[in-house]
Parts: sequence; C-alpha cells; structure tokens
Amino acid sequence: MQQKFTNPHPSQTASADVAVRSIAGTTRLLGIIGDPVAHSLSPPMQNQAIAALGLDCVYVPFPVRGEHLAAAIAGFAAVGVVGFNVTIPHKQAIMPLLDHCTDVAQAVGAVNTVWREAGCWHGTNTDVAGFLAPLQAQARDWTGATAVVLGSGGVARAIVAGCRQLGCGRIVVVGRSPAKLAALATQFQPPNPWAQAIELQPWEALAEHLSSADLLINATPLGMAPHIEASPIAPTDWPRVPPSTVVYDTIYTPSPTRYLRDAAAHGLTILDGTAMLVGQGAAALTQWVGQPAPIAVMAQALLTALGRG
Ligand code: NAP
Repeated sequence: MQQKFTNPHPSQTASADVAVRSIAGTTRLLGIIGDPVAHSLSPPMQNQAIAALGLDCVYVPFPVRGEHLAAAIAGFAAVGVVGFNVTIPHKQAIMPLLDHCTDVAQAVGAVNTVWREAGCWHGTNTDVAGFLAPLQAQARDWTGATAVVLGSGGVARAIVAGCRQLGCGRIVVVGRSPAKLAALATQFQPPNPWAQAIELQPWEALAEHLSSADLLINATPLGMAPHIEASPIAPTDWPRVPPSTVVYDTIYTPSPTRYLRDAAAHGLTILDGTAMLVGQGAAALTQWVGQPAPIAVMAQALLTALGRG
C-alpha cells in the first residue's frame, strides 16, 4: 500500500509565509542515518545553517535498519552523497564499513560523522569537539584537573576522550555496571591512539569522589523525561562539591535539569548539553562544507526545535 504523506505543521499551509527550499539538479545531499531517526534535531539545525551559509545543499533524515547499513552506504556512494551523521544504533557498526577512521573516532570507538573524499568514506567523532566547545569557551586551564564522569555508556567515552584532550590529570568514571566500566577502561588501553588511564568507581562510591571533582559530568539519562526530577546527585551531597567545580550535564532537554538546578542553587557554574549538541553538528558541517559553521544560527534552530526559542 502506498505510504500516506502528512503535514507535520498543520498550522502552515502552502502560502507565501512557508519557506520553500529550492532543490535543483545541482543540490548536494547531506543527511543522518539512524533507527529511529525521525526524532532527530539535526535536520532543522543543519538546514538552517545551510540556508544561512547560502549553500546548495539539503540535509535529510534517513531511517536505516542495521541489516541495511552496508547497502545504504553503497547507495550513498553511488548517488554522490557528500556526507552524513550517524546516530544510534549504527555508531560502532559503521566503523568496519569505512575506509578510514580518524584517531578521535578510534579513541572513542564510535563514528558520528562520515564524508566522502577521493572515492573513500572517512569517519570521525565530533561528539568530542561538541563536549569540549562550552569548556573551551570558559578559557579555564584544565591541565591536571580531576574530571568525575557519571555513567559509562556511549557519551561517557566521548567525554573521557575530551577530558584527555583538556589535559585532565585524573579521570574518574562512576558507573553501576562493573562490566560496562571495565569495557570502557579497556577501550582506552593501547592500541587506542588516545590511551588513557581511568579510575573506575562503583555507583555506591559516587559521593566520596565529589570533593575531588574540578569537572563533574552527568553522562546518564537521569533527569530526562519522564523522570525529570531525578538526579545522579542526592540533594544532601551537593555541599561536598567544591565551589570552583564546573557542573556539566550532557542532557539538553529538559534544561536545566534537576541536577543543574541543584548545582546552581549551591553557587556552582553549570553547563547543559545544548552547546554540546550544537558543537558536534557545527564540527560535522565544517568538515563537509569546508567553512566555519554558523554556530549562533544552529543554536537558535535547535532551541526553536526544542520549543525554547
Ligand atoms: P547509554 O550508552 O545508554 O549510557 C547511559 C549510561 O547511563 C550507562 O552507563 C547507564 O548505566 C547509565 N544509567 C542509566 N540510568 C542510570 C541510573 N538510574 N543510575 C545510574 N546510571 C544510570 O547512553 P548515552 O548514549 O551514553 O547517552 C547518555 C545521555 O547523554 C543521554 O541520556 C543524553 O541525554 C545525553 N546525550 C547528549 C548528547 C549531546 O550532544 N548533548 C548526545 C548524546 C547523548 P547502565 O549501563 O548500567 O545501564
């Protein structure tokens, strides 16, 4: 049966106030693959950036099932796709299908950005650059600092790589799954090009490590809907966190999370995950089009898509 097409913006009709992108024979294709991908905020963010740069490109979401990953990439090569983002569940699975992965992608063990160059697919990981963007904007010297990372999943790996790039002296990863903690530590052992010693701590020991944190990062979903009042830090433990600690949440919606609200109430500097999401997209676009991404435009597009703009 033929698929029905619906208008996701019923308040908008085909009138002059609806912006219509001009797609021509010259238009180049960018996109994102994932399963699912319909929820992705990258299309509005990237298409606003493309429009601001005046580029003849369009960025399209492609739902791709795992068993179709290789076929999708072969098809992208055949039709001249310039590059694409990769999201869950393909970030690891795509690596053996690429001709070259950057050191940062190998360090994290995941690719989120792919581009075509000289007939080859190249992959990198811009989540690290995204994580670093708001920290570098602070102009604080993180050399020798202690980072305490809460969670040991996919984002935690990008954060560990980022903390290494910052020059952190200690990286403590706190997680509830001993197997996942061990896997993360193994990932950062040689031959990882960014090998890094990591201290592993069980979730029950979290409170003991708060007093040593210069940078405290939530890499868990605690605080996201539907449990928006959840936080990885118990209210009674905030006094343990030194006043100079920067408290970072990778969550970008809701914002601020309960974790960040509690931290701010204790006078701590807070960063939410919005700049990280914009930063990873900006680094990807720069890679594809070879010019600086319009970060303010992307941030505004993201806030609008999140209903905060
Ligand atoms: P993931 O691979 O599923 O890892 C989640 C981690 O959180 C795991 O270590 C998990 O522990 C832990 N966790 C989950 N619930 C917990 C709980 N109740 N108590 C303690 N630990 C818990 O997910 P991910 O891809 O790393 O994403 C994590 C978060 O990062 C997401 O929720 C998202 O908000 C954020 N994120 C932000 C950006 C950005 O650009 N700002 C990008 C991607 C993701 P177990 O292994 O024991 O389950």
